[in-house]
Amino acid sequence: TPTIGVLALQGDVREHLAALAAADAAAVPVRRPEELTGLAGLVIPGGESTTISKLAALFGLTEPLRAAIRAGLPVYGTCAGLIMLADKILDPRSGQETFGGIDMIVRRNAFGRQNESFEAQVEVRGVPGGPVEGVFIRAPWVESVGADVEVLAEYGGHIVAVRQGAVLATSFHPELTGDHRMHELFVSAVRAGS
Ligand code: GLN
Repeated sequence: TPTIGVLALQGDVREHLAALAAADAAAVPVRRPEELTGLAGLVIPGGESTTISKLAALFGLTEPLRAAIRAGLPVYGTCAGLIMLADKILDPRSGQETFGGIDMIVRRNAFGRQNESFEAQVEVRGVPGGPVEGVFIRAPWVESVGADVEVLAEYGGHIVAVRQGAVLATSFHPELTGDHRMHELFVSAVRAGS
């Protein structure tokens, strides 16, 4: 059973711990750089990316996490977590830094204006058994991706799920539904790589 961390600075940490456990991983919260050691993978939860960015800097996690991602640590980010995995944010709040890992440009709160929050059926490449119930909460979308990025899903003409190597990200929150197929996709990629 792979041990997968959930970055526990802010956001819906508990929901990810439960979803990972349901997907047959040993899930542990991560707050300190030392806790990255020995992880087979890491989840970055949804929440508020500006807060996660600030707390990561405060806890001395920004550089160790960047290094771990560069070294090939499998990571899955949802919503704010997707933002944290973007190499570039369109109009970042001042001082907002990301960990990077996916060659993409992300627009924060992109779906937010018309609709603060909604659910939609999203067909995700590599996820068997029909569309995933996507929960979008002030969700970002991906404006553009580099050549090495695989687009796994689009919704309303916008990219909402991507993968680059071992790094996976979705605009929506599968951890808020009873459907654990996105977590299973991530856990099986972690298993295959280890
Ligand atoms: N709007 C949030 C941000 O910019 C993301 C919202 C979420 O994670 N549900 O970080």
